[in-house]
Amino acid sequence: MTALLIEAKNLSRYYDNHCAVDDVSFSLAKGEVLGFLGPNGAGKTTTMQMLCGNLAPSTGEIHINGFDLLDQPKQAKKCLGYLPDTPPLYKELTVDEFLEYCGRLHGLGFREISQAINLAKSRCGLDEIATRLITNLSKGFQQRVGIAQAILHNPEIIILDEPTVGLDPIQIKEIRSLIKELGNEHGIILSTHILSEVQESCSHVQIINQGKLILKETISGLNQRMNTNTIKVVTRSSINLNYFSEISSISSIENPTDTHYFIHHDSNSNPTELIVEIIVNAGWGLMELSPIQQSIEDIFISLTTKNAEQSK
Ligand code: ADP
Repeated sequence: MTALLIEAKNLSRYYDNHCAVDDVSFSLAKGEVLGFLGPNGAGKTTTMQMLCGNLAPSTGEIHINGFDLLDQPKQAKKCLGYLPDTPPLYKELTVDEFLEYCGRLHGLGFREISQAINLAKSRCGLDEIATRLITNLSKGFQQRVGIAQAILHNPEIIILDEPTVGLDPIQIKEIRSLIKELGNEHGIILSTHILSEVQESCSHVQIINQGKLILKETISGLNQRMNTNTIKVVTRSSINLNYFSEISSISSIENPTDTHYFIHHDSNSNPTELIVEIIVNAGWGLMELSPIQQSIEDIFISLTTKNAEQSK
């Protein structure tokens, strides 16, 4: 059995009478990158802050690497690295100075610190800018410094709150590939409201809406949900649809124009190979064949609407 790095059970958090997080349970294992997805105000930051021990849950339990976060906070927090939504940087320090300060806060010894700093800098691509003042760095590099402080003490778990907000597309790509790489050796939770981010960086996804978890899935499970069992076909000349009548897995065909087709099929059998064979043999000129996928946005909207209707 995989050892669980995080086990959160029945977590709730109230702000006065407002329930920001409502009976949420989930776990994280080593090697998992869990995308925590939800619209603004859904309860992501509140959950992350509870996981880091910065905010007490109103009810529920959190175990971090086997330690109860409330009963053994020191041992539990040693296993955590946290990047809040605004990176906690002292911008008047250089990268080296700041990381040394963080190393001391983490309680690393003198020798350990310089080793840890060198490793974190090289993993986050900071070697070239180690002596520069943080204030003069681009937002992307400042975010890397934020990640470097989170991984400095080599924690088993890294928690990243909206790690790519405010970055340009190149910086986003770089941070995402860094997260993927870190995911090989750690367990990572990252929150985001960007739906495509979880597909790019994560192995698992959970969606929170109005404080409630409404989906927990692997990314491959999510991809399956995106499958619509419809194949789009474009040909140079029009198809004689009678040729497809023998394929029992095809349920219906729409042809909005003479050369465009939407072929609907059963979920347990994919007729793509047969379709290609028939079109090529008949010489109709296959120009395009692609499975139609629901976007993750569609899934999100259908789940959140269902959730809203159920709670009426
Ligand atoms: P997210 O990170 O998904 O945007 P948050 O966890 O920040 O969501 O917020 C969840 C809900 O709790 C929101 O309705 C927000 O207004 C409310 N909230 C968050 N922090 C506080 C606070 N300190 N006091 C009162 N309400 C809060």
